[in-house]
Amino acid sequence: MKIVILGAPGVGKGTYTSVLIKKIGLVHISTGDIFREQVKKGTSLGTKARQFMDAGKLVPDEITIGMIKERLAQDDLHNGFILDGFPRTVPQAEALASMTDIDAVLNIVADRDIIIQRLSGRRLCRKCGHIFHVQNIPPKVEGICDYCGSELYQRDDDKPEAITKRLQEYEEKTAPLIVYYTQKGLLREVTANEDFKTHGDKIIRKLMKAIESARRM
Ligand code: AMP
Repeated sequence: MKIVILGAPGVGKGTYTSVLIKKIGLVHISTGDIFREQVKKGTSLGTKARQFMDAGKLVPDEITIGMIKERLAQDDLHNGFILDGFPRTVPQAEALASMTDIDAVLNIVADRDIIIQRLSGRRLCRKCGHIFHVQNIPPKVEGICDYCGSELYQRDDDKPEAITKRLQEYEEKTAPLIVYYTQKGLLREVTANEDFKTHGDKIIRKLMKAIESARRM
């Protein structure tokens, strides 16, 4: 199955995708994670992407589309995948449609004040990339990853000025994809206002139900 997860920054796309892939055996493809990996390695792609990422802007389509094309050509995707963070513009969605057929698009929605609270409290493990939140998903020991013991950090683009820019980019460039995929009959909406720690299971059930109904079509 080939699934796209859509939603504003901070809505929980990465967190929910990590759980879903384990349940249904798909590969998690996050363009944000691929960019961050390239930045960490200091590649030319990473250097180009970084200036946009740090400013809370989208990386230009030609760079992002080229990168995803390479990723989708790899041979680990026989069972399918969940795309988390791609597409984020209509030209990206059109490019994706020319590469492969998507079975379902899950649009995760949450209120703006909740999104801002989630983004500003989010912390990531420097080594394994696991996602925590200072209030919603706190690590057992402050600042330390529960899974590998490495240091947690705040992404530069989770700082206040970048958050505002990212939400603006989302409204202008990504929100039009809701209409795009609705017209194609692929969109299914799931609300995720409650926090992951206490209500994550319920939201996962709603996402699984949406996937099952797409599978039956
Ligand atoms: P994310 O981890 O998905 O929030 O992505 C972090 C940052 O990577 C975004 O704010 C963008 O700068 C960049 N990025 C990730 N995916 C895309 C995409 N599909 N198109 C353009 N930029 C992207």
